[in-house]
Amino acid sequence: MRIAIASILQESNTFSPVYTRYEDFHPVFGKAALERHQGKFTEMGGFLDVLAKTKHEAVPVCAAWAITANRMARPDLDLLVSRFVDGLRRARAGALLLAMHGAQTAEGEDDVEGHVLSLARSVLGPDQPIVLTLDLHANITRRMVANADAIAGYHTYPHIDMFETGRKGARLLLRMLKSRTRPSMAFRKLPLIINAENSQTGSGPMHKLIRAAQTLEQTGKAEAVSIFPVQPWMDIDEMGCAVVAVTNDGPPAAQRMADSLAARLWKSRRDFEVKLVSVPEALAAAEKTEGGPVVLSESSDSTGSGSPGDSTGVLRHLVKAKLSGPAAIFLVDPPAVAKAIQAGIGATVRMSIGGAFDRKHSKPVAVSGRVRLISDGRWTARARGYNTGIVTEMGRSVVLECGHVLILIAERSAMTVDPELFRSHGIDPVYCKIVVVKSPNGFRAAYEPIAKAIIMVDTPGVSTANLRSLPFKRIPRPIYPLDAGTAPPGDLRL
Ligand SMILES: [Zn+2]
Repeated sequence: MRIAIASILQESNTFSPVYTRYEDFHPVFGKAALERHQGKFTEMGGFLDVLAKTKHEAVPVCAAWAITANRMARPDLDLLVSRFVDGLRRARAGALLLAMHGAQTAEGEDDVEGHVLSLARSVLGPDQPIVLTLDLHANITRRMVANADAIAGYHTYPHIDMFETGRKGARLLLRMLKSRTRPSMAFRKLPLIINAENSQTGSGPMHKLIRAAQTLEQTGKAEAVSIFPVQPWMDIDEMGCAVVAVTNDGPPAAQRMADSLAARLWKSRRDFEVKLVSVPEALAAAEKTEGGPVVLSESSDSTGSGSPGDSTGVLRHLVKAKLSGPAAIFLVDPPAVAKAIQAGIGATVRMSIGGAFDRKHSKPVAVSGRVRLISDGRWTARARGYNTGIVTEMGRSVVLECGHVLILIAERSAMTVDPELFRSHGIDPVYCKIVVVKSPNGFRAAYEPIAKAIIMVDTPGVSTANLRSLPFKRIPRPIYPLDAGTAPPGDLRL
């Protein structure tokens, strides 16, 4: 059988000042999609790995990934989706393996995944199976569940099981094709959003829930059980955490499974609260720590959570602080890059940097520094797990050396979870006293093994952990923790 495989992934943050365009996805189609993911630790890599060992033919349709930002322009979404649909038609496939994020929005569309799935369903027809893989931070909708035969989400946060999730989805599809049956899928939504900073799966309140989901899969009681603590920075309808269960034991069993884990998630909702530290306190604590690196997580400016990466919340303190060793920080600021390049390598430049996109939360800060390095901003993710092997293109980039502070400034945003971001630009985090990451949790996979300490700092931004400070208007109310007295769904047995 010909099995179509495709990926379209982006997480949205509807508070971000930066909107998404077609080019941000760097989309490729047909054979080029296969070439991008063959042998890589991504969902598509996982699909290909499993299908290579079968008699089925993998037919690549498209591969597209964009960094988190606000809604995609509607004409750009329509272009991307029409190219996906055309490719799917040409694939003449009997089944589809589709990797999406689950929290993608566009102008006039709160649920891009549901939209894409409904179009895929109309191409394939009601009888050809569709298996969808999702990020753990997906926002599950009725339309997604109605149009997919099975959904499987990541089990890890930091996300290091993209490849394994792709393999899981592909194996599930093969079992469906072999048995000529469809499993039952049920989901349970909760009036709940939770902080990303304390929802790691290796410890804390999410750990036991994920273990329970994995046990259901490993003992054969379920084909896939996924817990989706949706990322909280989306002001959309149908917003909220969810659990999805896929079993071969019929709809009531699937619903019981989803409900039981959803009830446990609801009961643990208060455990996700996070304590943040002021930047001066964090810098003092870092100086008191023996050795380095001490990792400061500035999650309010998380580039993986839709922030522009332009915050000066930590930077303004860092450039004034008396540091005993080098500090590394990433910043997105296109005009600053242009000025540094114009000055040239070795030149000393004085300029205001930061706050290039989000002036509401950050004011520029004046710095004076030596232009140490100029690059094309191309680097490859090496840390095992997240997009491993995939190339990031963050445009022209420079390293500005301001005393002990090494500021890596790029024209475009990039994930900061992989130390390779800095290493590829001549800064090895291992030899730094302080490394600032713009990530609430994803950085832990690669940084925990090398960090002497990790401190979550409190600065303003559009991906703040202080959810009550965000201007929500459309999200269904009441919802916890915005409304303290929120009740669980009436038919959910706790
Ligand atoms: Zn995620």
